[in-house]
Amino acid sequence: MPFGMLKNFAETGVMLNTHQLISQSIFKKMHSSIPEVSSVAWSSLITGKNPGQHGIFGFTDLFPDSYKMRFPNFNDLKAPPFWDQWQGKSVIINVPSTYPVRETNGVLISGFVSIDFEKSVYPKSLIPQLKNLDYRLDVNSQKAHSSMELFLADLDKTLEARIKAYRYLWQTQDWQTFMLVFTGTDRLMHFLWDAVEDKNHKYHNLFLEHFRKIDQAVGEIIDRSTDDDLLIMHSDHGFEKLEKDVYISYPLIQNGFLRFKQDQDTNLNNICYGTKAFVLDPARIYLNLKGKFPCGTVEPAEAEEPLSQLESLFHSLEIDGKKVIRDIYRKEQLYSGPYLENAPDMVLIGNKGFNLKANVKAKQLVDKGIFTGKHTQDTAFLIIKGLPDKSIIPEIPTVSDVKGIVESSKSRS
Ligand SMILES: [Zn+2]
Repeated sequence: MPFGMLKNFAETGVMLNTHQLISQSIFKKMHSSIPEVSSVAWSSLITGKNPGQHGIFGFTDLFPDSYKMRFPNFNDLKAPPFWDQWQGKSVIINVPSTYPVRETNGVLISGFVSIDFEKSVYPKSLIPQLKNLDYRLDVNSQKAHSSMELFLADLDKTLEARIKAYRYLWQTQDWQTFMLVFTGTDRLMHFLWDAVEDKNHKYHNLFLEHFRKIDQAVGEIIDRSTDDDLLIMHSDHGFEKLEKDVYISYPLIQNGFLRFKQDQDTNLNNICYGTKAFVLDPARIYLNLKGKFPCGTVEPAEAEEPLSQLESLFHSLEIDGKKVIRDIYRKEQLYSGPYLENAPDMVLIGNKGFNLKANVKAKQLVDKGIFTGKHTQDTAFLIIKGLPDKSIIPEIPTVSDVKGIVESSKSRS
């Protein structure tokens, strides 16, 4: 959820309890990870580390010494989450990229992408009760492609069950740290961003209703907390209107960086024809380095030339007279740590409205799919109530700062 929308909902009565919370709290804009996707953002948030230290650079990655795609999961997270480091029991519900769950001091119910219910709940003894509550790991977003009504009904049931599960665990478990994540908001904003902007939109009220229900849960949690508790509410990235999907593979192909054999399938397993660079979602650029990839063409010592060519290519990329790329980062600017080797060489952030995607099969630069909303890197929000010393919060906090903020407040209290 973006800072601006939360502020607006708080001030216009959609989220009255959140309004009350803000009035007693520090309320700031927060920056997401780069790239601003949930797997990277949450991995950074729960570990307090950057991707060079925790090893999660996106929803997809490549097997070593290959172009074969894989989907990193919780087993790939190379740094410990806070609940394995802090004293006392924790209840952790629905944090993305925590599947499959592992043994922990307390309760862990994994968030998306969770596949098998049995591997999503620790301890397993909670599974029957969660099933009784009709708990769902995630909303079925596929439904939105056939019927928005079915999708919204599923979204509602998922939220309701999540709230029931939190109430049950809050009351029945002994805990010191409790974390509850709502992920339906992300799906809602991807599919129906237009519904919040347009008051006459068929689903405008249903959109607001979802946030009213979340606000009720916020109100309950405020009531259940005491003045000694530290209470944090935040998003993992912001959101805005999606104007255009931009396929980053396309300019790479057009400018000879990405090459496939003619008449053969355009996929990453078929780029051994002089490819100098390729891209993984959302806009992570990898040089095809000798020694790192099976048919690398770029000598690591000569990487500067293609990197600066790519920078000028992306700096000058325009659609309808608008610059597409807001920021271009080299990996050393973003990441540090033992897994820097696995990092993309360059990461792009899109300008307002431009949703960057790799799409190796792209036959054009621009498209517009079913989504009407897209993530933003610089407009997440952070609310903290009960922090004894406000000066420990950075001017612009990022998702990887949150763990440290909590730790310094714990050590002072
Ligand atoms: Zn999303």
